[in-house]
Amino acid sequence: MYVGCHRARRRRRPLQSLSKPRLSKPRFAVSPRFHYIQNEMTSPIDLPCDGCGQFASTEHIARRLQRLEWATRYRPVHVHTLFLGSASPQKQEEFLYSPNGEFQGEAAALLEVVGVSTAGKKAEAVHAEFQRAGFFLTHILECPAENESSATMALSLLMEQRLTAVAVRIRRSLKPKRMVLISRTLEIILRKFVALQLGCPLVLDDGKPFALDGPDTQKAVANLRGAVSASAV
Ligand SMILES: [Zn+2]
Repeated sequence: MYVGCHRARRRRRPLQSLSKPRLSKPRFAVSPRFHYIQNEMTSPIDLPCDGCGQFASTEHIARRLQRLEWATRYRPVHVHTLFLGSASPQKQEEFLYSPNGEFQGEAAALLEVVGVSTAGKKAEAVHAEFQRAGFFLTHILECPAENESSATMALSLLMEQRLTAVAVRIRRSLKPKRMVLISRTLEIILRKFVALQLGCPLVLDDGKPFALDGPDTQKAVANLRGAVSASAV
């Protein structure tokens, strides 16, 4: 029986390997373009980023994947309240799920809204508390706006291009009980966003997104805190 198996294995060996010597050189030349990409990992690549639609460098893609990993770690199994911003903050310290625990800007404002204190806590304890309450934060553009995209028109176009993908993610994956818009920048696409019919209530500030990125953050925080606790289920 062993001999039979052995014979079968021998029969399956490619004839070429028995009859021809090994090639010492690769049979295909590496194209100059491929060679360039391999050796210049910091150079821009001509592809739009899946998370924001902007033309992306390899560092941009790496930072997006890092943010995605940090956020996914603290995504509740059942999302109760989905906070939705326009674009991920420019500074890592302002990105809620960053593990550095500085909680500045948008991150600080949102934690104040939901009453999660950061004093004396490690970042992971703060993230876990936010997660346990059923809260999750995401952005229409998963990356910060690059210089040339920060103009209102460019931002509006980028967000419109992302709407279908965001809607699919909300309907099929996140499935929140309610959604809260937290960037005033979202106002430029609000009508199109409402038309998506995402199957859950949208919490707004007198018909507009809450302006956590506006000039009066404290007022926005107070309004949002009231709305979040008033409509808590
Ligand atoms: Zn991106």
